[in-house]
Amino acid sequence: MNDKNQIAEAIHRIKSELGGRARLLGATKTVPPETINFAISQGLDLIGENRVNELLEKYEYIDRSKTELHFIGALQTNKVKYIIDKVDMIQSVDRVSLADEIERLAKKRGIIMPVLAEINIGKEETKSGVFPEQAREFCDYISSLPHLSLRGLMAIPPKSEKIGGNREYFCEMRKIFIDISSKNVDNSIMDILSLGMSDDYLDAVAEGSNLVRVGSSIFGKRAYPQPEVNK
Ligand SMILES: *Cc1c(COP(=O)(O)O)cnc(C)c1O
Repeated sequence: MNDKNQIAEAIHRIKSELGGRARLLGATKTVPPETINFAISQGLDLIGENRVNELLEKYEYIDRSKTELHFIGALQTNKVKYIIDKVDMIQSVDRVSLADEIERLAKKRGIIMPVLAEINIGKEETKSGVFPEQAREFCDYISSLPHLSLRGLMAIPPKSEKIGGNREYFCEMRKIFIDISSKNVDNSIMDILSLGMSDDYLDAVAEGSNLVRVGSSIFGKRAYPQPEVNK
């Protein structure tokens, strides 16, 4: 894990590289609350957690007055109830049953939950998300749910072997995003394209991403690897 100087330097450097083209989300899995709060004090105003249990453990210690908190990981339907009143957005809505459960609980609480539809852009068996050709239908379905606000799309492309290897996926995502957001007749604002991680956030932004999710380039290498799916 990086020390505080490295974390501060990374946040400032990445923000200046982004130059206002994209928001920086700090992916804070395995990062303790004290370190998260330091990052927030350095201007990290958006963080993402990808495990429900870890989010719940850290939640009350995180300085939420200066940051937005998004859920970005695989979400089991029976765990939505634990996070529905704690997160500002769920980026990883990847199936109808999950959208339905968010709708049910948001309605019960009288809130509208902002969400992104997760697209399995590389059509990988091991990854969550709907296939590109189902994206439109899935987004129409989410838009029909009154207590969800569809704000855009998210994707995690395949692990790339070479530099720039994901640009074609990012480009394809931008096309899907433009197609769906331009035809979205409901009064939902689709303005977020969440693409790009530590290795490729500049490529993602060059292809139209306006929200990058960066973990190890801010906080350093993590202590343990993350599973990608746990439905
Ligand atoms: C961990 C994580 C990231 C950030 O990954 P890095 O390679 O560490 O930048 C982005 N998105 C999701 C969904 C993640 O779980």
